Amino acid sequence: MLTIHDYLNALKNGGYRITDQRRAVCDYLARTESHPTPSEVYAQVSGSHPEISRATVYNTLNVLRDLGAIVEISVGGDHTHYDTNPQPHVNLVCLRCGRVYDYAGDVPLGALYESVHAQTGFQAVSAQVQMMGFCAECQARKRDEFRRQLQASTASLREETN
Ligand SMILES: [Zn+2]
Ligand SMILES: [Zn+2]
Repeated sequence: MLTIHDYLNALKNGGYRITDQRRAVCDYLARTESHPTPSEVYAQVSGSHPEISRATVYNTLNVLRDLGAIVEISVGGDHTHYDTNPQPHVNLVCLRCGRVYDYAGDVPLGALYESVHAQTGFQAVSAQVQMMGFCAECQARKRDEFRRQLQASTASLREETN
């Protein structure tokens, strides 16, 4: 994970001035372990910096993305999340609740880099892998809903036959 100093250095090296507001955004990014959306970042940062505008937060996020300090993940529609984990890893994206989280297990991305390089000559330096599907909670909720529907339909069936 990057520290606040890594983010501030990225801004400095990019030629950007460090304002209190940019520092507040960097501070939040250094502390979060989730994959926040732009409006989540705004909600969190404006809690401690009520004077900060949405435009300033979004602008800072765009700058940090362009500098490569954070990675933008687009999850269909207008769902944008920011990833603060610079290590190659797999993001698990739930299509039902929209949650994005890191897969912490070992991912053989090195082997993938090698076969990509062997076949195309492309030299990969980093990778973002998005795996779409349904999280464990959403699957459990779906099973519950299905069970309730089944109970409701057998109940009405019973009423009809009585
Ligand atoms: Zn889910
Ligand atoms: Zn991630």
